Amino acid sequence: MNTELHGTSIIGFSRGSETGDTFRAFDPTTGKEIDPAFHSATLDELGRAAMLADDAHLKYSNISGRERAKFLRKAADNIEGLGNTLIERASLETALPNQRFVGERARTCGQLRMFADLLDEGSWVDARIDHAIPDREPIPKPDVRSMLKPLGPVAVFCASNFPLAYSVAGGDTASALAAGCPVIVNSHTAHPGTAELVGIALSNAVKECGMPEGIFSLLFSSGYEIGQALVKHPAIKAVGFTGSRKGGRALMDIAAARPEPIPVYTEMSSVNPTFILPSAVKERGDAIAAGLHASVTGGVGQFCTKPGLVFLPGDENTDVFVSKVRGLITATEPLPLLTGGIQKTYERANTRRESEVEVSAANNKSGLEGFAVNPSIFETSAISFLQTPDLNEEIFGPTTLLIRSNDHDELLDIARALEGQLTASVHGTDEDLREYADLIQILETKVGRLIFNGFSTGVEVCPSMVHGGPYPATSDGRSTAVGTRAIRRFSRFVCYQNFPQDALPEELRDDNPLNLWRVVDGEFTR
Ligand code: NAP
Repeated sequence: MNTELHGTSIIGFSRGSETGDTFRAFDPTTGKEIDPAFHSATLDELGRAAMLADDAHLKYSNISGRERAKFLRKAADNIEGLGNTLIERASLETALPNQRFVGERARTCGQLRMFADLLDEGSWVDARIDHAIPDREPIPKPDVRSMLKPLGPVAVFCASNFPLAYSVAGGDTASALAAGCPVIVNSHTAHPGTAELVGIALSNAVKECGMPEGIFSLLFSSGYEIGQALVKHPAIKAVGFTGSRKGGRALMDIAAARPEPIPVYTEMSSVNPTFILPSAVKERGDAIAAGLHASVTGGVGQFCTKPGLVFLPGDENTDVFVSKVRGLITATEPLPLLTGGIQKTYERANTRRESEVEVSAANNKSGLEGFAVNPSIFETSAISFLQTPDLNEEIFGPTTLLIRSNDHDELLDIARALEGQLTASVHGTDEDLREYADLIQILETKVGRLIFNGFSTGVEVCPSMVHGGPYPATSDGRSTAVGTRAIRRFSRFVCYQNFPQDALPEELRDDNPLNLWRVVDGEFTR
């Protein structure tokens, strides 16, 4: 595979021009630009990508699931075929270690293959058949059948913090392509070279599998013009986004204001409250302190599932625990964040937080280079936490806030006041879970995933995973961005009434040629 970077958008099977504004990626260790220059797509190029996607939609949606599965597997093979070129470029653009990208590539290719398996099996379309009863009284019952069908072209925004697993061929793209939707990707300015490499791999897979040209395009974009125009484009029928609350909200509002509003699946901010109960601090304090430190500082604190709020009892065991965590965090070496913007936001938020809490500590190294920042830790009381809504805000980077409370009811008040979150974790015993059943009930209304005796970072990619949560964690708490149910975001039910057998999709025919699990006259069967 030719892996030379051209710095131009990929529009179906052709390349964009070199006329748009240029930008470069940065090396976060130095803050200096790296080659080559990337050319933002023009509005005309966006229009061409959208027209190709629109043209491809009907053809692609009628290609069988098994053929789409072969294409997703080919895309995974091609990404692996990029070898170290991909790993090294991703590492250069993010300052995250090579090993991180070996793991993230495995996750990315694993996601593509997981959706391929889902398509091969086929029952995800949720086919239901209710046969006609022509002699039913007082009125005849018609023949009614329904299943999920693809929504149409999807715009996917790359995530700064997952250059592979939530970018060009990441979870949003994989689930949209699996559903039968063409995808147009808006690159992230932090890692355009990584995007182009994966874009080449995906585009080759489209050609090699004989798929319609317009099912994949990658638009480079600096500034917001292209991303916003993409969300406004009438051919686009849904959006997937991971990033800031401000950015996600802006795109939700743009989509809602369209003449034809469309669904936008944004994953924005979460502080992943972590409740460490008295028995856990007493019995396993050291192990939990080490686990918490790893979870807060892993990936330089730039995971959407980082524990940003940690609730602790107010006893003497907690004093020992807090001093251990504080020691670990303040001894952690400064490392660069992904972008200069994320670095500035982190520093501003840390300065503000210092004035809002009772205790602050950080590794106060000076003269840091590039986008490097000092890890930090803050402590405050439950009362002050409840009185300071700002303390609920996500600070992206290696920092966390510890809050002490001795009062069961106070913990319930805190839980009730929380915004929507991706996760909440509870550390304790089985007995604690019974004693705090009321806390768990409140948390169920606030989060997408509840974790017992574990940390929120490290999302397992498997069919039952839920990576979502009520607003503002995501724009639609009924959805998940990880796991096979992510495919449902990009599909909708279509019902066929009184259609003859040979005019029905294969999934809904009486002889069940695809051998799917279906609900037939109220019975789950195949
Ligand atoms: P971001 O600023 O929201 O940007 C994400 C992507 O959306 C980028 O490609 C950006 O364009 C584009 N974009 C942002 N606002 C837009 C708008 N109004 N209209 C059109 N496009 C827009 O997120 P980020 O760069 O990844 O990081 C910034 C902050 O987001 C972090 O400090 C963190 O707080 C938060 N974040 C949270 C998560 C999470 O999962 N919880 C993940 C990532 C980031 P450009 O590339 O041109 O900037």
